[in-house]
Amino acid sequence: MTLMLILFFGTLALSGLASLRVRSAYNRYSQVRASSGLTGAEVAARILALNNIRDVTIHPTEGHLTDHYDPAHRRLVLSEENYHGTSVAALGVAAHEAGHAIQHKQLYAPLKWRMAAVGITGIASQIVMWVPLIGMMGGLIPHQFAITIMTVAMGILMLFQLVTLPVEFDATARAKSVLAGTGAVAPGTEFQAMSKVLDAAALTYVAAFVSSLAYFLYYLLRMTAGSREE
Ligand SMILES: [Zn+2]
Repeated sequence: MTLMLILFFGTLALSGLASLRVRSAYNRYSQVRASSGLTGAEVAARILALNNIRDVTIHPTEGHLTDHYDPAHRRLVLSEENYHGTSVAALGVAAHEAGHAIQHKQLYAPLKWRMAAVGITGIASQIVMWVPLIGMMGGLIPHQFAITIMTVAMGILMLFQLVTLPVEFDATARAKSVLAGTGAVAPGTEFQAMSKVLDAAALTYVAAFVSSLAYFLYYLLRMTAGSREE
């Protein structure tokens, strides 16, 4: 049980620290205006046009850091502050999401794997939520069976976080190179500030992977320890 508590608070602290870092980097560099004067939406539109992507639409949405690319509907969704914003942070985030649209067009393999795994990952996240709760009621699921199900589900979640890493790092690399190449973000301080925001955002995905790996190993350990006892 103590190991479980260490795991719980350790992963909570890790993801908390990572999201704190991205928020502070974003808050700081959303005050730094890019000298190009372009908005996030304009930059995203330019990148899509440069890559001959005509079937992706760009939309503003409410909320803070709610930006994402939706491959199912081919929508590039930017939070209002990044859609209208002209800061280096806004341009970085917009270019990163456009990077996902380029991956989609080029059928970038890790993105395809990630899209294919969305369904089963949804089921796995339901399992890891419900099995411990049902298990607490006692006797409803045989203990060793519950541990085995948890190990498999945690393994699926861990693999999903693992394939997310190349997808996110690649989108950020594309964003940096296109922003520098088109002059949307000036070299020097502007580029460094934009990089800090995107690098902090990438670290949150590393934190999510490390957490899922820790949980997977924990259940794997319990599974093998349990089967040795029998
Ligand atoms: Zn991304």
